[in-house]
Amino acid sequence: MSKTLLRGGTVNLNGDLVKADLLIDGTKIAAIGTNLAEPDTTEYDVSGMLVTAGLVDLHVHLRDPGQTAKETIKTGSAAAARGGFTTICAMPNVDPVPDSPARIAEMVARNNAEGLVHIKQYSSITHNRTAGATVDFAGVKAAGAVGVSNDGNGIQSADTMLEALLGAKAAGIPLAEHVEEDSLKHGGVISAGAKADELGVKGLIPAVETSQLARDLALAQSADAPYHVCHVSTATSVNMIRAAKAAGVPVTAEATPHHLLLSDSDIPGDDANYKMNPPLRTRKDCAALLEGLLDGTIDCIATDHAPHTDAEKAQGLCGAPNGITGSETAFASLYTAFVRQDQPKCTLIQLLHWLSAAPATLFKLNAGKLLPGGAADIAVFDLEHGHTVTADEFASKGHNNPFIGHKLYGETVYTFVDGQLVYHEGN
Ligand SMILES: [Zn+2]
Repeated sequence: MSKTLLRGGTVNLNGDLVKADLLIDGTKIAAIGTNLAEPDTTEYDVSGMLVTAGLVDLHVHLRDPGQTAKETIKTGSAAAARGGFTTICAMPNVDPVPDSPARIAEMVARNNAEGLVHIKQYSSITHNRTAGATVDFAGVKAAGAVGVSNDGNGIQSADTMLEALLGAKAAGIPLAEHVEEDSLKHGGVISAGAKADELGVKGLIPAVETSQLARDLALAQSADAPYHVCHVSTATSVNMIRAAKAAGVPVTAEATPHHLLLSDSDIPGDDANYKMNPPLRTRKDCAALLEGLLDGTIDCIATDHAPHTDAEKAQGLCGAPNGITGSETAFASLYTAFVRQDQPKCTLIQLLHWLSAAPATLFKLNAGKLLPGGAADIAVFDLEHGHTVTADEFASKGHNNPFIGHKLYGETVYTFVDGQLVYHEGN
């Protein structure tokens, strides 16, 4: 088996930053220590760089099968590798929808064969993601599904949602929900408020999210069933989740980099690279999300990587589909804005926790930690040199990213999955 030595890095040893070498033997981490030397070893000088567990993303859209002009399993996983992610969870809004044990088995086989990183597969909650019957929760779990979600749409019927919570609980599979009350949308494309008025477009009120979240928290409490909230966007939602947790409701939640970093006031005009669902809210909402992470109300960060074609996104705020890419800019955008500041908003260790160990723990994934004897899933980041993001640098097929033109620190230099180098800066 081949051996690889990462020499002289700053290693995030699960919460402690230590100067150390890291030795990979085959697919495993063989040792973390000083002055490690082995014969016949491929060496990488990573002095001055951060060596950490590969990042974990509970929320990506790979568009494959069905929309491969936007992304494929191969390009989406290459984007993840370029962002330092070594385990990602793929949402089921593809065509055909993975909603049966047989289709989950097919997707698991394709993800393993074609993915550059570990790809876990979500099943939908309902058949074909429609208002119909719920899936065979035990069956999709046995076939390898990591969780169930109808992401992309909310479940409009409380009765269906309660049935899903009870079914997922009985099967012991995580349920992750996109909360959105369709009857309150009225054609809105960005958050309701001054920016929507300025641009002359229809707005989405926060209650599109919070009204359904309130329902779901009540249902999760009634069923005493685990419930994970996708991409929380409003301060009111954070307060509701905080209160629910305090009351013992088994709720967990994620926030995206873009909802943490950008507000509707940052939308420069009719630019669909700022159109996503839920929409960008206010600066107060951004601050509330960060506060939620800091006090444990929000459990982790997930990207909602959502690639689209250039032609689709050229249709402006009213015509373009929702979603932006996130895999390749998540760590650097957050590191730059939150950590590399005169007055940091969080520590590097906290940020890495929210992007690796925390999501892995939520879904019981064997990932997110650096341990001798453990899988060699590793990301190496350059924290010292700034880099201006350009539209043509992405491994994703999607270029729909609002951080294009931003100077970011924290570029990925190397990504290893099971000891194999799957990304090298510039390649
Ligand atoms: Zn969603």
